[in-house]
Amino acid sequence: MAASSTAIPYPNPTLRPAAVFGFALVHVCALGAFVSGFSWEGLLLCIGSYYLRIFGVTAGYHRYFSHRAFKLNRFWQFCLAFLAQTSAQKGVLWWASLHRHHHRFSDTPQDIHSPTLRGFWWSHMGWILARDYEETDISRIQDMAKFPELRWLDRNQYLPTMLYAITLYLLFDWNGIFWGYFLSTVLVWHGTFTINSVMHVFGKKVFPTPDTSRNSFLFAILTMGEGWHNNHHYYPGSAPQGFLWWQFDPTYYTLWLGEKLRIVKGLRRVPERIREMANGAILANVKIGDAVSEAVSNAIGAAGDHLGERIDRLSLEWEGMRSRIKTSALQKLADLEASRQAGMTHLEELQSDYAQAVSRAGAAAEKRIEEIRAEMEKTKSQLADTLEKLVETARTLSECQTA
Ligand SMILES: [Zn+2]
Ligand SMILES: [Zn+2]
Repeated sequence: MAASSTAIPYPNPTLRPAAVFGFALVHVCALGAFVSGFSWEGLLLCIGSYYLRIFGVTAGYHRYFSHRAFKLNRFWQFCLAFLAQTSAQKGVLWWASLHRHHHRFSDTPQDIHSPTLRGFWWSHMGWILARDYEETDISRIQDMAKFPELRWLDRNQYLPTMLYAITLYLLFDWNGIFWGYFLSTVLVWHGTFTINSVMHVFGKKVFPTPDTSRNSFLFAILTMGEGWHNNHHYYPGSAPQGFLWWQFDPTYYTLWLGEKLRIVKGLRRVPERIREMANGAILANVKIGDAVSEAVSNAIGAAGDHLGERIDRLSLEWEGMRSRIKTSALQKLADLEASRQAGMTHLEELQSDYAQAVSRAGAAAEKRIEEIRAEMEKTKSQLADTLEKLVETARTLSECQTA
């Protein structure tokens, strides 16, 4: 998809000296663990602190704040944001806004951290230290930025991690600091970064996504389920990233437990048709090569790219308006909103059918591809019209209210 006005410009490789210094310093402090000497307590602290915070990264930064794959009340939402930020990866608003950008432009020139286009080390950590991505782009995360406590956490991005380090020191002395904090933080960082770097070059591709995302059991163990990255790129909205029973995803198991405890609500699950597709592709050992992915990407793009851009622009505008509009006005917009949602769901289904058709071969598949393309074009055009009406009506209503 072509760049829109809100796209982040082409990466500028200039690094921020302060960021590089801080990053290097934490790595040096992590070596303190080896100087202070081995102990079982230290090792357990390191592993425990690692998995606690990896959970904060995957359930918090990623599945909740970036993808809204489940719902929490405001108290638990704050707790999850706080836990995520103990991993010292900046504010949840910053993290999620850039991650949404990654999904929108995966492995295209606009992607901030594509290993195939910018090199492995840039995608792993270079971009984090670069000058261009220091600020939070609120326009991509308006749904979450409306909470003042999250904006506060974004401004005080390192407060949770500092309090976490102090607590570990008070409870476990130097073992707490060197093993539980510094060494574990370095491991959490690189564990998280591998999803952007390694998981776009290493592993199996099951779904014909237009990007280079892969699946790996090993990385699913290391990152509590994030290793099913190709699954995730294919269907980013679901809370589980392991789509089949054997695809180990402890983050999801924990969220499932949270649902039983009535903390987590509205867990979004994988539709049966997608589960079947994952199963079918693996059982038949279908190797979907990069040529097919490219074909899907080109064809999806060709099916109404100008409309795609218009939909993106209007959706952003609508997201921004929705949070500011009064409840009485929202009721008047209910029908339009329902048809917008129906349009979005239909489009998602068509894209999945499309990818499925492309991964088959033969004349029947060709015919089906053409049909889906026509249907996609129609749906996109209807969706764009609905959004246009929605934005216009909302604007008129809010003008009446302020008048
Ligand atoms: Zn990715
Ligand atoms: Zn994601």
